[in-house]
Amino acid sequence: MKIIVNPLELKKYLKENNKTIGFVPTMGALHDGHITLIKEARKANQLVVVSIFVNPTQFLKGEDLDKYPKKDEADKQICEMSGVDVLFFPNANNIYTEDEVSLVAPSIRGYVLEGNSRPGHFNGVLTVVMKLLNIVTPTNAYFGKKDAQQLNLIKLMVKQLFMSVNIIAIDTVRDSDGLAMSSRNIYLSKNERAEALKISSSLYEASKLISNSILKVETIKDGMKKILNPLEIEYIEILNREFEYLDSVEIGNTIILVEAKVGKTRLLDNIWL
Ligand code: AMP
Repeated sequence: MKIIVNPLELKKYLKENNKTIGFVPTMGALHDGHITLIKEARKANQLVVVSIFVNPTQFLKGEDLDKYPKKDEADKQICEMSGVDVLFFPNANNIYTEDEVSLVAPSIRGYVLEGNSRPGHFNGVLTVVMKLLNIVTPTNAYFGKKDAQQLNLIKLMVKQLFMSVNIIAIDTVRDSDGLAMSSRNIYLSKNERAEALKISSSLYEASKLISNSILKVETIKDGMKKILNPLEIEYIEILNREFEYLDSVEIGNTIILVEAKVGKTRLLDNIWL
């Protein structure tokens, strides 16, 4: 596996190789969710590129940028063992300069849900994803459905800016008890981790209600709130795949999203129905 820090060096290397490229952008502290994305990329492309970059512009002031988990050596080994060809491992100075051109997320979709809890977060996400896609120029880029709003906005960016990459969405990988895997799960104490299970349980409750033909959004949200109690709920939303609000669940076209705080840790989860 080749490790490259410099974007121009990576561009040169990839151009010389002239192969189909599968790209998995990450912020490191890799877990089975990331590995699943890498394996999907391995299946469908000649060359697999993974990036590890904790992107400062998507963190708001006071968020966990400085504390974000770092596991550089373990991450390198995971990439090596998962069949990654090139690990792109830039520093902030390789990606950003002082006074920058940047992207702005759309005013509605970018500022609801996660974008409402973290105003400006998606400007940073879109800017860095655009930079990374321009550096790597992949055939296929792999993103997790766990970050459903991020995935939706990246697909929108690719469509609206007439980019030629295929965005491939991968199902959420969970621990055996149902907790969606996340690099931030290591912030949780033992008790908090047990409490965090209420998030996936609330989504299972929603799917149970729906399979009993209860489709009214408000009724489903009430059922979920009971399970989530006493966690601090940032939002529960039931939307269609275009991220538009629904009164009633449309089977085959619905995403149920939850963000809740467990101690100081904000956790996201969702199911696609
Ligand atoms: P991150 O390192 O958290 O920025 O995530 C990098 C990529 O992995 C994103 O596309 C995430 O949506 C995806 N991802 C994170 N957690 C999971 C998971 N549990 N299952 C599937 N994909 C995930």
